[in-house]
Amino acid sequence: MLAVQSSVPVPDALSVPSNAPEHCPGTESELAGKADACAGCANQDICASGVTRGPDPAIPLVRARMETVKHKILVLSGKGGVGKSTFTAQLGWAFAADEDSQTGIMDVDICGPSIPTILGIASEQVHSSSSGWSPVYVQDNLGVMSVGFMLPSAKDAVMWRGPKKNGLIAQFLKDVDWGTLDYLLVDTPPGTSDEHLSIVSYLKESGIDGAVLITTPQEVALQDVRREIDFCRKVGIRVLGLVENMSGFVCPSCKTESQIFKPSTGGGRRLAEDMQVPFLGAVPLDPRIGKSADYGVSFLDEYPDSPATTAYLDIIDKIKDQLEH
Ligand code: SF4
Repeated sequence: MLAVQSSVPVPDALSVPSNAPEHCPGTESELAGKADACAGCANQDICASGVTRGPDPAIPLVRARMETVKHKILVLSGKGGVGKSTFTAQLGWAFAADEDSQTGIMDVDICGPSIPTILGIASEQVHSSSSGWSPVYVQDNLGVMSVGFMLPSAKDAVMWRGPKKNGLIAQFLKDVDWGTLDYLLVDTPPGTSDEHLSIVSYLKESGIDGAVLITTPQEVALQDVRREIDFCRKVGIRVLGLVENMSGFVCPSCKTESQIFKPSTGGGRRLAEDMQVPFLGAVPLDPRIGKSADYGVSFLDEYPDSPATTAYLDIIDKIKDQLEH
């Protein structure tokens, strides 16, 4: 179970009746009566009627907090294990390489928060002040907020149902004192779940610039990306582009190139064409990426000559271009 170490309060769950099924989104949620979990629930008619919920009081507070955040970018993946959080971290470091810009990373992968480890700040804790929760800073212009900072240790599991996750996301969005940001990167869990719906509903009024989708080349990963693109279209989020990660491996000794994850159906590039979303690029496997993540250092800074660094920087330039248009 999650225990909070710092003075930061754990959010209360929205109301969940005792007769509600396990994945009840909460009777005050926008999804009350409409979520998949509501099918067959004895309370569905009353929840669907809307009488159980008023306007969410968090939304105007989120809007006020986000007024000083210029670009809000979601990082999504259909599957786990495709390198989404590592990509988010590299993107954060790359944005923060410009000393005149300010970047924040919000890790809402509540059940698997890996951003603090990848950024080398896993032992830090969150503190609160009169102006809100203070992000943990990797460097002066790169701040991070993650539930990972609130866990007593990396092996502690977070076992929260949807409403409690929604409550934490609302608090992250309205209570974190980011100051003025050029970029806020939101690292989400794999798939399309409670966390995604919460982020979208809380940020809709503030405006989301778009989503970057991460995949690996094999068909089993691409299937989930199609669903992710469909999700973005349904909730009205622009797809900034698709990144193919772990795209081939060049042996550092013999220089032979191998396809670890075979693009049997054309990989990310073909999928992007088929789904009419921008293809941002392919990042080759480099074992030093995983090592950098384990040690919490910037791969881009440590290995500037790697083909993966060249690919990352090219992709990041394309994302910046997308944000300007
Ligand atoms: S209808 Fe849905 S929101 Fe309402 S109590 Fe049942 S599961 Fe929860």
